[in-house]
Amino acid sequence: MPSTCLIAGCRRASKRHSPLCSTHQQNQRRHGHALQRPFTKGELTRAKTLVRQLIDSRSNAEAVWAKLIASLEQVRTEALAEVRQMETSVHFRWKLAAERDIVTTCQEAQAEDIILTMVALGYMSSLDDRRFETDTAWFMTAGRRFRLLARSNYTATTNPTTGKRHWTPTDVAPKRLQHLGVRLMSVFAPPGFALRSAEVITAQKRGEARTAAAKLITGDKP
Ligand SMILES: [Zn+2]
Repeated sequence: MPSTCLIAGCRRASKRHSPLCSTHQQNQRRHGHALQRPFTKGELTRAKTLVRQLIDSRSNAEAVWAKLIASLEQVRTEALAEVRQMETSVHFRWKLAAERDIVTTCQEAQAEDIILTMVALGYMSSLDDRRFETDTAWFMTAGRRFRLLARSNYTATTNPTTGKRHWTPTDVAPKRLQHLGVRLMSVFAPPGFALRSAEVITAQKRGEARTAAAKLITGDKP
């Protein structure tokens, strides 16, 4: 008799040589944790819109954008140097592949789109610390969403019945996604955290101003 998946509440049969069912195993491999909810395109689009508004509403918006674009260019230049160096020496394949991912994606995707996506993932983890099951899941989500910005990272498949072509993301090794995520989040998560902190401080100041105003109206000393 096949055993059931290790995840509490999951009644599906576990796969051979695995304590998990195919769904939870796929989550583990793609998103870094069996219970990690994928970060959908819709969720990302909303987060990116919000992050763009938060940056653009700042008085130093232009300087912030210039700094973010320079940071991305630095990440790309470093990756290019790493690729050149690793090609001539023996290294972990997934590491080389991840550095190549940076070069390719920077070539194919718009800089602004990459920046907004990565800063949004930093912002979201700061907004809701339960959104990502573990740091690994967060890094892998960042790596995966980064790769999804470039056309080369999709594989074309043809539906045999309809003859229609579909583009599906190419699955890559978890270590490669994690390495990619760590590289990008080390640069773009801090601006995301900063945007969230600024938002919290603004809300606090507004709250204090409202309390002070209410006290003035009621005649209390503020
Ligand atoms: Zn399961």
